Amino acid sequence: MYTHILIRFGELSTKGKNKMAFVRKLAKNINKLLKVETNIQFDRIYISYSKKNIENLQYIFGIYSYSPTIIANTDDEEINDIALNLIKNKKDKTFKVKVKKSSKKYKKSSMEKEKELGNLILKQNKNFKVNLSQPDIKIEVEIRDKNSYIFLERILGIGGYPIGVNGKILHLISGGIDSPVAAFKMMKRGVHIDFLNFIVPPHTDRKTIVKVNKIINLLNKYQGKTILYRSNYTKLMNYIGLTYRKEYKIILMRRSFYRIASNLALKNKYQGISNGENLGQVASQTINSMHVIQNQSKYPVYRPILTNDKLETINEAKKIGTYEISIKKANETCELFAPKNPVIKPRIYELEKLEKDLDELSNLEFQNVENNIEKISFIK
Ligand code: ATP
Ligand code: MG
Repeated sequence: MYTHILIRFGELSTKGKNKMAFVRKLAKNINKLLKVETNIQFDRIYISYSKKNIENLQYIFGIYSYSPTIIANTDDEEINDIALNLIKNKKDKTFKVKVKKSSKKYKKSSMEKEKELGNLILKQNKNFKVNLSQPDIKIEVEIRDKNSYIFLERILGIGGYPIGVNGKILHLISGGIDSPVAAFKMMKRGVHIDFLNFIVPPHTDRKTIVKVNKIINLLNKYQGKTILYRSNYTKLMNYIGLTYRKEYKIILMRRSFYRIASNLALKNKYQGISNGENLGQVASQTINSMHVIQNQSKYPVYRPILTNDKLETINEAKKIGTYEISIKKANETCELFAPKNPVIKPRIYELEKLEKDLDELSNLEFQNVENNIEKISFIK
């Protein structure tokens, strides 16, 4: 019986002058992901109604709430008929009518219309009662110049900003619990995310690849199109493993990750790098370690779950559905390489000295970006 879905953007309204650009982006994202026509009118977007559209709107960042609705001409009789029809099969209910008027042409006040429609409902439904504070049914009418919208429910959207309004970033993804959650949080702030994953075959195998693919497939539901750069890092890992200060291995590798990520970002016009680092979680994620790693990046490094407790991240992972994929056993690149006693306070001069000794390092990194990165497109 519904014909349309009325979409509200909430948080966007705080964005002042940029608002229109945001709304257009939101409409474009809806159009791309749901494959429906969108109709922007003031502070609302309308699309056609279907059950599938109702479900899929949960994947669109930037939506505050939405309602299955019926559109009427702004005509009292038509509005009343539709409202009465909407509640026709509901029995023994308490109700409330809420009218929001955004039209100067329409002469009645919101309150007058609420009373009129309320009385009409009482007349035609003998077992209905008005309850203004906690009604079973809330009949809402939005009155605009030409059309009016009648609806019964408001479904909460996932909020955030439309993907793409905040640029695009390269996200370092592993098969762990943290990095998918971090990517989701960046997306929610309106950033388009593409991924970089380092693998070290034959130590990492199909399982590692399948895991990351599954995670990206899931996250791609929010974007529609996502690129995964898969770097075969085996040669570099073996080479860095030659260092005589084994306790520095993992920091050396991570610095190398960020040099590669920076070059890839430069080549493909990304505006930043993000990851799932979490303060203090492991030796390579102390303030000191993150400093000596990040200074190899030409781009800002964003860490959306920096201060999460592990339990918070786990709960978020469960909510978005990546948790079950992440906990499947597979060989992870970093775990394979982690020394028994990693340094907790690595020194930059020491790292630079060790890197100088590995004199093929920058050449191998250059070769990696040029020849050993596979580009995979995920399209919904
Ligand atoms: P978890 O901590 O849940 O095991 P994680 O993804 O956080 O998973 P860490 O070892 O803590 O793994 O790594 C810290 C961050 O470094 C990750 O969040 C990710 O951004 C990046 N990273 C780790 N391993 C890789 C990899 N193989 N490829 C790309 N990025 C990686
Ligand atoms: Mg981690």
